[in-house]
Amino acid sequence: MLSFEQALDIVKQKLAAADPRPGREVVPLGEARGRVVAEDVLADRDYPPFHRSVRDGYAVRAEDVAAPPVELKVCGEVRAGGNFAGTLGAGECVSIMTGAPLPDGADSVVMVEYTEATGDAVTIQRSVQSGENFVRQGSEAQTSSRVLPRGRRLGAGELGLLATVGKAHVPVFVRPVVAILPTGDEVVPIEHEPEKFQIRNSNSASLAAQVAAAGGIPRQLGIAPDRPEALRTLIQDGLRCDLLVLSGGVSAGKYDFVEQVLADLGAEFYFQSVALRPGKPVVFGSVAEKFFFGLPGNPVSTYVTFTVFVRPALAAMAGADFEAPLFLRARLAKPVRRSSGLTAFLPARIDRSGGDPAASLVVWQGSGDLVGVAAANCFVVLHPDQTTLAAGDWVDVMVKQD
Ligand code: AMP
Ligand code: MG
Repeated sequence: MLSFEQALDIVKQKLAAADPRPGREVVPLGEARGRVVAEDVLADRDYPPFHRSVRDGYAVRAEDVAAPPVELKVCGEVRAGGNFAGTLGAGECVSIMTGAPLPDGADSVVMVEYTEATGDAVTIQRSVQSGENFVRQGSEAQTSSRVLPRGRRLGAGELGLLATVGKAHVPVFVRPVVAILPTGDEVVPIEHEPEKFQIRNSNSASLAAQVAAAGGIPRQLGIAPDRPEALRTLIQDGLRCDLLVLSGGVSAGKYDFVEQVLADLGAEFYFQSVALRPGKPVVFGSVAEKFFFGLPGNPVSTYVTFTVFVRPALAAMAGADFEAPLFLRARLAKPVRRSSGLTAFLPARIDRSGGDPAASLVVWQGSGDLVGVAAANCFVVLHPDQTTLAAGDWVDVMVKQD
């Protein structure tokens, strides 16, 4: 059976070979969060645009204050938003505020804490190095240099940067439309009062949120019954979208028809099972030049397999870099023993009240238990060889990213 890493590599290879080139559109900056920028963004001018003081104090020539205390003549003031027109001469200084441009002739700023003003003079009590206490013009970015590469996903920091360089409108890639198709005769819409033996359709809700968080547009196709003909019609609908994500119907049960219907439609399967838990029967393939994922129906399986396989694929389809799940490290709070040689994703809470980050597994009943997922803020990832672990052992941790 494929390891989790091998399966992820297949997803990566297939997406790269397909070379998805999404179209572009231009959106207002205020609507660009989470989108993927479609062009390199260049600095429209130097950043900072001038030598910017990072202290309140006095702009000086370092050579003048090499042997403190020294008295300098204060020949003016410059504040943020202002400008000092003249040039500093020997024995002179200018009172300067944080954010103000360094006057010509000055090469450093002495903090106000190390000075004493007396009328139009000031006594400087400490020396400074040339270049101290200001940020040099162009040191963050020079005019026309690239500040954001095409393909970068836009979060708050990137949006701030776009605003800085005057991008009120941003060229972004068009989002892939993702068909969401839950299957199962026991699954009913959430508005329905379920019979005792029925289950509300929670997968469509969590998948739609995951799709949106990964940069796609979810399209709900309704619930497919466990009947091949009906399933086929809905799958064909789904294949009109950029990506099809199914849940349920991929195990070996008598009424699991998803793979059979896809095969009848001419699908090529890249994998149909992976050594991970929850989520072992996960399916990835393509049909009619569209990729599809068949995720196991148990809600935690659906959630985990989306996070580790679909999210990276969707990022690539959205024009971003392939975003493999991000593993951090934490110490196990308690010992763990297990028999399985699969890669396990176990809901946990990470906290770092003392010392290293500590991960405590939450109580959960397995792949159907969303209560456990909601109680968690991460998943502890146990690799196949990790079967007996002691408290304090370092483990991989996958932080929830949606
Ligand atoms: P399956 O993968 O089709 O064998 O489904 C496994 C289990 O997952 C089912 O018995 C249901 O309890 C649950 N399940 C399947 N689909 C959904 C869904 N759309 N929403 C919530 N639970 C589901
Ligand atoms: Mg089913």
